[in-house]
Amino acid sequence: GYNRVLEIHKEHLSPVVTAYFQKPLLLHQGHMEWLFDAEGSRYLDFFSGIVTVSVGHCHPKVNAVAQKQLGRLWHTSTVFFHPPMHEYAEKLAALLPEPLKVIFLVNSGSEANELAMLMARAHSNNIDIISFRGAYHGCSPYTLGLTNVGTYKMELPGGTGCQPTMCPDVFRGPWGGSHCRDSPVQTIRKCSCAPDCCQAKDQYIEQFKDTLSTSVAKSIAGFFAEPIQGVNGVVQYPKGFLKEAFELVRARGGVCIADEVQTGFGRLGSHFWGFQTHDVLPDIVTMAKGIGNGFPMAAVITTPEIAKSLAKCLQHFNTFGGNPMACAIGSAVLEVIKEENLQENSQEVGTYMLLKFAKLRDEFEIVGDVRGKGLMIGIEMVQDKISCRPLPREEVNQIHEDCKHMGLLVGRGSIFSQTFRIAPSMCITKPEVDFAVEVFRSALTQHME
Ligand code: PMP
Repeated sequence: GYNRVLEIHKEHLSPVVTAYFQKPLLLHQGHMEWLFDAEGSRYLDFFSGIVTVSVGHCHPKVNAVAQKQLGRLWHTSTVFFHPPMHEYAEKLAALLPEPLKVIFLVNSGSEANELAMLMARAHSNNIDIISFRGAYHGCSPYTLGLTNVGTYKMELPGGTGCQPTMCPDVFRGPWGGSHCRDSPVQTIRKCSCAPDCCQAKDQYIEQFKDTLSTSVAKSIAGFFAEPIQGVNGVVQYPKGFLKEAFELVRARGGVCIADEVQTGFGRLGSHFWGFQTHDVLPDIVTMAKGIGNGFPMAAVITTPEIAKSLAKCLQHFNTFGGNPMACAIGSAVLEVIKEENLQENSQEVGTYMLLKFAKLRDEFEIVGDVRGKGLMIGIEMVQDKISCRPLPREEVNQIHEDCKHMGLLVGRGSIFSQTFRIAPSMCITKPEVDFAVEVFRSALTQHME
């Protein structure tokens, strides 16, 4: 029973890995955008396994392909070839612009970013790497140097050569308030204008130049950025910031890395990759999560030139990277995204959802901001719209629990865990969005009573 599960968890599973909810959910089954617990209660999954189940739980086509491959060949390691790997490589490469055509297949986002760090250093002959405050790029020892969000941050003895820089957050900003507005009245602004209306871009660029001029980062190896920060609570940058930042980094010999672990594969709707929404071309792109719809796989894609500089300094090997199961599933995921027009659905349903949730901001004083793009949306909870101080964690927890009781699962983010993160599978429909918004509205109304 459930109590035995709790005992085993306490005894044998690491306490540093935390679960949502006072009584963590024990899930037995998933079907597309729905999850089912042991008692058969169903939940609308608005976080898709942390932005991972891109096309739906147990999607029939992906399942059929996986089952076929399961009975054919599971594993070869990279010293042997197998058809799923080459079929997949060709399909994935076709989705990236020139000259991003060389693929390294790995198994997780952390691994992908660690490999990208290595490439940046091998190519530039420099050590220092910069990333934003609030960034999440992984939990492996070196990627922890890149990660700068809340309790995930840790410094290795001896350092990692990583330097944080100010995050150009259009809502909260470095000053903790809502700096991009001139007056408190403006805090209730239209949701779609956020990155465009930000007055602070130039100030942020000055801060970025300051970081680049510090001694550690004078000649840098690389710069990592998520096109929209996920774990930090769906944080968006001012329009044009990344483009200028990329130019500054390249002028100092560094390479620019887009971490598409959350933003890739059509989730943002308007474009297949997040970097395209900033009109930039990275030198290295890393991807994981949605790539395999929940099957562990990840990839790094770079230019032939950067791939060659890595080859000059080391031979790279990865036992499971490019595994036949992963590649077959990866191909099926790409086919489903195309056949079912899921990128278009992200755009259409995402736009609809952003507007619907934005109404809650007008209705409730504690909804400080509603932001995002496509099916990656953040709802930041505040004490009041003028101070924009985060709503205390216990209060956010209660709203989170209440949503769960009403059959809606959403994620959490930001330093004080004050932002609800919404990132359903891309097969989501408008009636399901209506249901989610009503659940949210009820939870907020209950909270205000
Ligand atoms: N990059 C980003 C943007 C992420 O959100 C995450 C995971 N939250 C990672 C990298 C690390 O991925 P993984 O957990 O697969 O190592």
